[in-house]
Amino acid sequence: MKVAVPREVATDERRVAVIPAELKRLAKLGVEVAIEAGAGEGALHTDEAYREAGAEVVEDKGALLASADLLLKIQPPTMAEVDGLSEGAAVVSLFQPLESPELLARYRERRISGFALEYIPRTTLAQAMDILSSQATVAGYKAVLMAADRHPKLFPMLMTAAGMIQPATVLIVGAGVAGLQAIATARRLGAVVEVSDVRKAAKEEALSLGATFLEVDEEVDAATEGGYAKEVSEAYKQKQQALLADHAKQASVIITTALIFGRPAPKIITEEMVAGMAPGSVIVDLAAERGGNCELTAPGEEVEHHGVRILGYTDLPSRMSVHASQMWSRNMLNLLKHLTSDGAFKFDLDDEITQGCLITHGGEVVQERVRAAIDGQA
Ligand code: NAD
Repeated sequence: MKVAVPREVATDERRVAVIPAELKRLAKLGVEVAIEAGAGEGALHTDEAYREAGAEVVEDKGALLASADLLLKIQPPTMAEVDGLSEGAAVVSLFQPLESPELLARYRERRISGFALEYIPRTTLAQAMDILSSQATVAGYKAVLMAADRHPKLFPMLMTAAGMIQPATVLIVGAGVAGLQAIATARRLGAVVEVSDVRKAAKEEALSLGATFLEVDEEVDAATEGGYAKEVSEAYKQKQQALLADHAKQASVIITTALIFGRPAPKIITEEMVAGMAPGSVIVDLAAERGGNCELTAPGEEVEHHGVRILGYTDLPSRMSVHASQMWSRNMLNLLKHLTSDGAFKFDLDDEITQGCLITHGGEVVQERVRAAIDGQA
């Protein structure tokens, strides 16, 4: 199977889907990798390093696409990239099929087998292929570093000859993959960490990392079978907001990561709460891509309201492109290990992971949830 890895064209995308260190393992699967010249630059991998590891480095993107059985990339392909592939080729990338009806239609027309990486099920078996988890880990880490950089206070408690410095308090809303990494990172920097989440399992995990869990006085366990959260009752929401408003006043930093699968991000940090924070405080909203957990977040931007800086950047993993690419690349190896046999896709439609993330195949939409959503819209 010939795999083409193009240079990412989206603005500010510095990651690459395959790194040189993974090429030997990919070769063992019967996969031949061709990479567009310069594709690894943003993650500090030279063409020479790819060549030495056994990849073909191709200058002509048209030729790269035309000869590929699989286009492997990070961001969804452009229409020109899809049109450059031969009919019936496969694409593995982020996709957002419901938000990108034109791309979905083009995949069907050109009989592209389109895999959506964000649809990989959140199961134990799929964990090693799960780019949402690997990239959330990177985002959670970077969020804390950015907050620490923006804040004019130190994070740790320091006893110095020039007096004592009190530790900063970091409030983390949503202790999923990104939130847990944010807790660990903030703790390593010496901050006092407080956490809010709607899933009961999150409490134990937060405590084990040395955080305090903020209990809402209202029964809830909003965990679904897949481990995701679902929406909470109005009564819970009000009590949670009152509690968070109280704690926000003392917090130097708030990091929000709360998401409900397939829905806009819940609005948890209100303008009133922001106004109640001390000037100089920082909010990093990791839910910005889905609209943000804070009412004042501007996705993709850094803004200031009531003296509080609110970071709504959506490219945090790309800012840590070396390790984000390393983890992505390993996720891809594990995914291809599962989906292929003797260097060809199995397209086993009875397999849970294939059912989850194979969206189009043979000109049809084969993913149940996507098909149901499209039928519902018709
Ligand atoms: P996510 O990104 O969907 O959400 C982030 C966090 O926000 C979650 O912990 C969620 O409970 C929380 N949240 C949602 N609404 C909230 C609200 N109103 N207030 C406070 N918090 C709120 O979740 P995620 O990080 O992708 O994963 C969540 C959990 O799923 C993980 O902790 C894990 O248990 C499980 N998971 C399993 C796998 C796997 O097995 N492959 C992979 C990833 C995650």
